[in-house]
Amino acid sequence: MVHHQKDYIQQHLNSAQITNTLRHSRYFLISILIICLYIFCVYLLHYQPTELYFNVWFVGTEIMVSLCWLINTLYFKPGQYHLRTAHRWLNTQCLLIGACIAIGIYTIYIYLPSVNAQFTAIQALTLSALLLIVTQAFGLTFLTQKPSYFCLVFLPCLIPFFFSQIFENNDNLFLGLSLNFAVLVILFCASSSYRIHKRTSRLYAENSLLVSDAKQQVAWTDELCQQLQQEVNKSKDIEMQLQLNNQLLEQKVRERTYDIHQMNHDLQNQNQNLELAHEIAGIRPWDWNIKDRVITLTNHMHEKVSRDSKDHHAQLHDIIHPDDVDYFKSNMKQHLRGQAERYEATYRIQQTKGVWSWVHDIGRVISRDPKTNKPLRMVGIRRDIQNERTSQERLKLAASVLEQAAEGIFILNEDLLYIDTNPFFEQLSGFEREQIIGKHLFDITANYKSQQRSTHSNIIKQVMKIGSFDGEINEKFLSGKEMALWLHINAITDDEGRVTHYIGIVSDLTERKHQEQRLSYLENYDTLTDLPNRFYYNYQLHQYLVTQKDSIKQMAVIRINIDRFRPLNEYLSHNGGDELLRQVAQRLRITNAEALFVAHLNGDDFAILYEISHIRPSVQEHCDRISKAFSQPFNVLGQDYVITLSMGIAFYPDHGRQLDYLNNCAEQALAEAKALGGNTIRFYSSENTALLEQGIFIERDLRKAIKNNELVVYYQPKIHITNQHIYGFEALVRWQHPEKGIIPPGMFIPLAEQTSLISEIGRLVIRETAKQIRQWNDEGFRDICVSVNIVAQQLRRGQLLDDLDQAIESTGISGKSLELEITESSLVENSDSVMNLLNEIKERHINISLDDFGTGYSSLSYLADFPIDILKIDRSFVSKIGDKKQEAIVSAMVAMGKAMGMTVVAEGIETVEQLEYLRELKCDIAQGFLFSKPLPIKEASEYLAQTKLNLSYSYQV
Ligand code: C2E
Ligand code: MG
Ligand code: MG
Repeated sequence: MVHHQKDYIQQHLNSAQITNTLRHSRYFLISILIICLYIFCVYLLHYQPTELYFNVWFVGTEIMVSLCWLINTLYFKPGQYHLRTAHRWLNTQCLLIGACIAIGIYTIYIYLPSVNAQFTAIQALTLSALLLIVTQAFGLTFLTQKPSYFCLVFLPCLIPFFFSQIFENNDNLFLGLSLNFAVLVILFCASSSYRIHKRTSRLYAENSLLVSDAKQQVAWTDELCQQLQQEVNKSKDIEMQLQLNNQLLEQKVRERTYDIHQMNHDLQNQNQNLELAHEIAGIRPWDWNIKDRVITLTNHMHEKVSRDSKDHHAQLHDIIHPDDVDYFKSNMKQHLRGQAERYEATYRIQQTKGVWSWVHDIGRVISRDPKTNKPLRMVGIRRDIQNERTSQERLKLAASVLEQAAEGIFILNEDLLYIDTNPFFEQLSGFEREQIIGKHLFDITANYKSQQRSTHSNIIKQVMKIGSFDGEINEKFLSGKEMALWLHINAITDDEGRVTHYIGIVSDLTERKHQEQRLSYLENYDTLTDLPNRFYYNYQLHQYLVTQKDSIKQMAVIRINIDRFRPLNEYLSHNGGDELLRQVAQRLRITNAEALFVAHLNGDDFAILYEISHIRPSVQEHCDRISKAFSQPFNVLGQDYVITLSMGIAFYPDHGRQLDYLNNCAEQALAEAKALGGNTIRFYSSENTALLEQGIFIERDLRKAIKNNELVVYYQPKIHITNQHIYGFEALVRWQHPEKGIIPPGMFIPLAEQTSLISEIGRLVIRETAKQIRQWNDEGFRDICVSVNIVAQQLRRGQLLDDLDQAIESTGISGKSLELEITESSLVENSDSVMNLLNEIKERHINISLDDFGTGYSSLSYLADFPIDILKIDRSFVSKIGDKKQEAIVSAMVAMGKAMGMTVVAEGIETVEQLEYLRELKCDIAQGFLFSKPLPIKEASEYLAQTKLNLSYSYQV
């Protein structure tokens, strides 16, 4: 170590000497540069011109010194050189400088005095000594790190002096001695300086060694401290780990303890569960210690009891059913002997006297003597299976019901998939059970049509929503079977109300449908003619009007009646009449192939529904075709008969959109056709419809009108044609509607005729007319005669006479001043009763006038039979006066009336020509707008007063 330190110090010393000298030599060189320049300048100032050698020396020295300085500075940068190279260079540099200085001293001291006389020896000595001393002084300061450097500068410098002492004759001894002494002193100083430098460097080296040692010590100490700290940390970590482990251990112990508690608790629970399960399942465990002859049982209170096994078996023997004792014993023995793996027996035991209950006993030997193989301990359970046996029996019964039921029964799961079906359902669907199971409810039926699909989805929705469905469906199974079914599906729920299954019952309705169809035929068809009856006709018409109104735009309702069927029927007797109706129906069927519907309503009434379309013949053409077909005779009972038909037609929607209204219109048209004498086709007149369109709801409003006295009577004058005196009036009713003004009778009388309202109106008119006659009588018009219009219904209802009597009595007028206008058609119905009524009317001296003569029934026989006084020629004839043929008819009518002794009245006279013509025919009385329109009371009275004054009529024209 010490040796190592010495080496280090030596090395450091050497390196410090060279490095310091390199650094200091730069200052040394600069000093030399300056002193040389100074000497050169001093000499130059005193002695011009200068000497060549002196100049050469100066320039050469300056260049040399500068080069050395540059090499020092540029080449030897700190830390970038080898010590050895630097040492050699310093030696060389010192030697070169020493040489340069020596040459300079020689030049100044020896050469210059020889060439320049003015330059004295003293001056030369002074200058050269200056150069030497300054050089040595700077050498001492900067180059004494190593003695070699100083010596290499110093020693060459002395050479010129020694040279001059030796070779020149120098008598200046003092100078010589001084010089030598100075050289010695300088050498001594150099040596001292070297030693001081050396010691300083050594101390410095030692010091730096110590510093580095100290640093090393400090580093080691730090390292040790760190290691110590790490150790401390490690021990802390270990301590913490230990604490953690300790805590974990404690936690584990706690958890374990808790688990054990929990397990204990679970075990207790399971034990309780087991006991509960045993209790619920009716299981009673037993444990038989064969060795100690003790058996532990669970009694019916679910308590454990131990008893002697011998006693127990004796007791068991007593309560086991005698038939099961042997079976029980043999099973037990087999197992105890090891012949059977376990003991199992199902037997009956007596609960109470006479009540046997099935039990299932099962057990196993769990311990045997290893040597003798004798059983030592056996355990087992006994279970009461009485309820199960009963349920099984019930299930068997239910299954056999399912098997034998004469209804299709199926069971679906909660997703409506088949899980079971009975044989009858297989028969109905045409599928085997295996083909159905697992399929969805309607997967076995056809679902091609959207209607079927929607029915199915509705059923499924309903079943899912309310849990049941009950209804009739037409189903086609994929097996090809198609039928009407009654389907009943019901959800089965568990105790919580959740749907677990669905039960479906399917009945085949095919047979019932057939029966219904048969019944429906009887209900809807007329058995005599095989045509639809009135009920079905109305139903069908309703269907067309309501459900098919979009497809049928226009339709004709044709009502047909056989003309004069009643007498023919009576003549043909019952069978013949039926046969005729059958043939009529057949012919109607044939001729109405294009019609929508042909029906036999009753008796001789038929109806046809005919769709109006441009691709079919018009209604008129169609009806003409029917009429033509009926021109051919019918052969009934070997005789040919020709019959004619009356037809009344109403149009949908022109005449109405409702069934009743259309029927009424068609009936009304038929009545008109009949009134015209039959063999006629009549279309319903739209007058009434127009009224309806005006928004007047006749019947209701008419009743209100009667109540509110909105009906007023107008009077149209009748004039004696011969003397032009007033004969009387015709009372004509008007409806003074609060909103619509005066409504003419043609608008409401035909409708009133369809209800009882006409009788009320008639009574009102009779009463009002009677009152008016009374008033006119009172005013002096005594012979006045006023006619009122009477319809068939009034004649039929039997109220007319009372009304007349009441009017006459209450007003006290004479029957002669009243006249009743009756239409021809009224007389046809119920001829006998009408005849009686008319006779009674006649007894009251009331005249009877036949109104609208010529428009109705063409038979004239009633003219003779009935007590008719006046014949009133219809205005349709009067209006055509001018036409020869028509005139002929009018004249025939007048002639006939006259011939039969009747008064002849012509109504609707509008022109003087008509009046004149009738006058020529000797017609008695004239009525018409020519004289006056029907007038309200006041104006009628005025008219009367005026004609009395004039005693003649005045034309209105
Ligand atoms: P009708 O009994 O034949 O009455 C005659 C009708 O002819 C009246 O029509 C009358 O105004 C009209 N008339 C009279 N002269 C002329 C004429 O020169 N030219 C034209 N174009 N018409 C003339 P009105 O009053 O509209 O009565 C129509 C029908 O209503 C009556 O026919 C009658 O059948 C019925 N009617 C009127 N009032 C009553 C009534 O109180 N009871 C009943 N049951 N029916 C009545
Ligand atoms: Mg009349
Ligand atoms: Mg008339």
